[in-house]
Amino acid sequence: MRESFHAGPAAYAVAPVVVAALAHIGPAATWLPGLRRRRFPGLAGLGRPDHVALTFDDGPDPTSTPHFLDLLDGLGVRATFFVLGENVVRHPAPARELARRGHELAVHGWAHDRPWLPSPARDTRELRHAVRAVAEAAGRVPRWYRPPYGILTSGRWAAARRAGLRPVLWTTWGRDWRQDATPASVRATVAADVRGGGTILLHDTDHACAPGSWRAALGALPDIVRDCREAGLTVGPLEEHGVVGAALCPGTGPSVCGPVMSGASPFRPAAPGQP
Ligand SMILES: [Zn+2]
Repeated sequence: MRESFHAGPAAYAVAPVVVAALAHIGPAATWLPGLRRRRFPGLAGLGRPDHVALTFDDGPDPTSTPHFLDLLDGLGVRATFFVLGENVVRHPAPARELARRGHELAVHGWAHDRPWLPSPARDTRELRHAVRAVAEAAGRVPRWYRPPYGILTSGRWAAARRAGLRPVLWTTWGRDWRQDATPASVRATVAADVRGGGTILLHDTDHACAPGSWRAALGALPDIVRDCREAGLTVGPLEEHGVVGAALCPGTGPSVCGPVMSGASPFRPAAPGQP
């Protein structure tokens, strides 16, 4: 015999909790790549159609980050590194070296945690600390924020605004964090999805990834850059990307914003004005 459901006092007591949870996690749905690209192109990191932004998360790491710096020097590429405040404080030398070699430092949060419960005061406090640590290492105030796991809760969003940061996620990843990632798999994953105006996410450390997985990203990097260049795309940091809705930094290129890319072929610069 089926029992009918009656909303008793307990259900009414739970309802506000559910509403609060949805308000907390609701904006995080923007991490869904397809939705993000279509509805939130600036948040997805869409930019100039002749440019691809190269970004790395989770560092700095004294073991792995120097390998990326040397390789990027050899490739003649600058990138944006979304670093963790706690890693910057723990490893100030590679953090400063990132800036010295001309890369852009951005904020990935203080620690690499998941926001299970709303904590707006902690979000604000931790992001302020992270901004201070990054600014001290970089010698300039950071501009971008990418929350760990791309989970942008309402609390983190508000904290970013208060800290003067603009949230930017990614359009394309390499799945380089997996234990079974290889240079070939990372390159193929990026190649299948990258377009002019896109933002690539890789990791310069295994801080929150499978041990040693950074070697797959490192090994894929020369081919990823070559693929982009052969398609006529320039690879660079977010500050030169012309992210939709964000002004370019002075002197970093033409002040145009890329259109939303959809349906463009991988590794082809999208035509300006393409919907
Ligand atoms: Zn991360």
